[in-house]
Amino acid sequence: MASVNPIPPSAFAVPAVSSPNSARESVAVIGGGVVGLTVARAAALAGHPVRLLDRGVPGRPDGASWVAGGMLAPFSEGWPGEDELLALGAASLNRWSALAAELGEHVVTARGTLTVAFDSADVADLTTIAEWVGARGHAVEMLSRSALRALEPGVGGRAALSCPAELSVDNRAVLAALAESCKALGVQVTTTDVVDPAALPEDRVVVAAGWASSALLPGVSVRPVKGEILRLRRRAGSVPTPAHTVRATVNGRAVYLVPRADGLVVGATQYEHGDDTAVTVAGVRDLLADAERVLPGIADYEFAEAAAGLRPGSPDNLPIVGAVDDRTIVATGHGRNGMLLAPVTADAVVAELRGEPLPEAACCAPTRLSGGSGPSSVSRPSDLSRTGALS
Ligand SMILES: Cc1cc2nc3c(=O)[nH]c(=O)nc-3n(C[C@H](O)[C@H](O)[C@H](O)COP(=O)(O)OP(=O)(O)OC[C@H]3O[C@@H](n4cnc5c(N)ncnc54)[C@H](O)[C@@H]3O)c2cc1C
Repeated sequence: MASVNPIPPSAFAVPAVSSPNSARESVAVIGGGVVGLTVARAAALAGHPVRLLDRGVPGRPDGASWVAGGMLAPFSEGWPGEDELLALGAASLNRWSALAAELGEHVVTARGTLTVAFDSADVADLTTIAEWVGARGHAVEMLSRSALRALEPGVGGRAALSCPAELSVDNRAVLAALAESCKALGVQVTTTDVVDPAALPEDRVVVAAGWASSALLPGVSVRPVKGEILRLRRRAGSVPTPAHTVRATVNGRAVYLVPRADGLVVGATQYEHGDDTAVTVAGVRDLLADAERVLPGIADYEFAEAAAGLRPGSPDNLPIVGAVDDRTIVATGHGRNGMLLAPVTADAVVAELRGEPLPEAACCAPTRLSGGSGPSSVSRPSDLSRTGALS
């Protein structure tokens, strides 16, 4: 099996000097979540004077980035028909190796994802993913029960899809490291609730305000997609935390267990409930029950936190990244993949500032949605499994 494809640190860092004109342009980035912070950092590395504006404290925002699971999982999430998302996710995962090296390897909490199967329907779905993703040149493999046990003795299931190149990161450590890096690069920070991006004095404006971006750019269609998630702390004598990120479908619901230094993150529900961020009893109950099926013994862990966040959902599941006018660039709509897609998004925005759009991000152009396309018709098991199931 292939290991993570190492990329030299210079591959993510945008060249310090681009064209003399664009390097002189000042940039305001609205939103201090993972997308805004990564964009601000990359723009500063490219030589732009940058100001980051957020309602709260960048690096500890009240946004989706603070609650996220941190899986960088384009292959486990692959599904026939989603070629553009797979290619975009793979391009961003490649950049993550370099970004993690720059932020500090402590941000990486797991290498490799195992999606376990409990029944023949699961095996059929995972085989579909393995064949489709494998045919596109990515390292994926179906594992037998004994091979799964050898890797993760404490995990249930009769087979598994292995995606060895995927990573998982501690989202909060990533945010802290990005904020620190921005500070070191001279990014200015303003705490404010931006109402009108056009009123900002900078030469260029990047709107990276997550699901709230459409309030700032009414032509951009993003909606909040609620997700609940738990944090569990391992106690002395508890079953060991898996070394891999472990995913499964239990009772028709997707569940994942993402390792952290002190335990596990268990996620996540998915509903369309407007901007509601209440954590429900049903959400917590089902996540715990499903996680226990995956890792029997987890009940001995300490219940540390339950939280909910709002993913910025786009109409076709692809992010919305690119120029919306001569001055303004949008970077939102990353749905459940914003941690994964932040590095390629940052490169795309900096390329846009140079006036040379990034070919890898062509599928994210805001213009593709200007025809008023409706919600995506593409569906897959993990989309359907929790949406509406807990309402
Ligand atoms: C439960 C859950 C689990 C997830 N797990 C994963 C995962 O495992 N892997 C993955 O890749 N992705 C995951 N995601 C998705 C990921 O978290 C999001 O796609 C990503 O965080 C979006 O980042 P963002 O910076 O666009 O938005 P946010 O993190 O929401 O940040 C937006 C920021 O904009 C600020 N803002 C908004 N409006 C204004 C304004 N008018 N003025 C000033 N500031 C403003 C907010 O304060 C906020 O700080 C998960 C999401 C959820 C909810």
